[in-house]
Amino acid sequence: MAELDRVRVWAEALIRMHLDPAEWSFGFDHAKRRAGLCNYAERRITVSRYLAARFEDDEIHQVLLHEVAHALAGPSAGHGPRWKRIAAEIGYAGGRTHDGDIAHERAPWVGSCPAGHAHYRFRRPTRPASCARCARGFSEAHLIAWRRRADV
Ligand SMILES: [Zn+2]
Ligand SMILES: [Zn+2]
Repeated sequence: MAELDRVRVWAEALIRMHLDPAEWSFGFDHAKRRAGLCNYAERRITVSRYLAARFEDDEIHQVLLHEVAHALAGPSAGHGPRWKRIAAEIGYAGGRTHDGDIAHERAPWVGSCPAGHAHYRFRRPTRPASCARCARGFSEAHLIAWRRRADV
């Protein structure tokens, strides 16, 4: 099992090696379903405290490489060819277990219904949309308010 202190040491070493440590930082988060996250707004790579404690060392290392590759490739690269090339160059081996983050965290359009459910779109929403979790079918009472993230 990976110890959190060691995970932090590796993460900070990778940031120094591949990124600008004056800009990028590392931290743990509390996610349960995804392993890692590259936050472009805060220039911060985070790893789930919960999963890090359960992963083997080499697995958590792969998660870190996955996220560092996102930081290098930029938000528009997604998991496309540019990201894949960079990830391979820095030693990411790929694989199911490490594909920890979820793409919608990089979607530029973020919406919220009156009840506060989060929605994500990669393209500017053109038509009014309502929250499918609050109401089946279109409902004026559950309209989603969209905003564009400044950072992506
Ligand atoms: Zn990813
Ligand atoms: Zn809702």
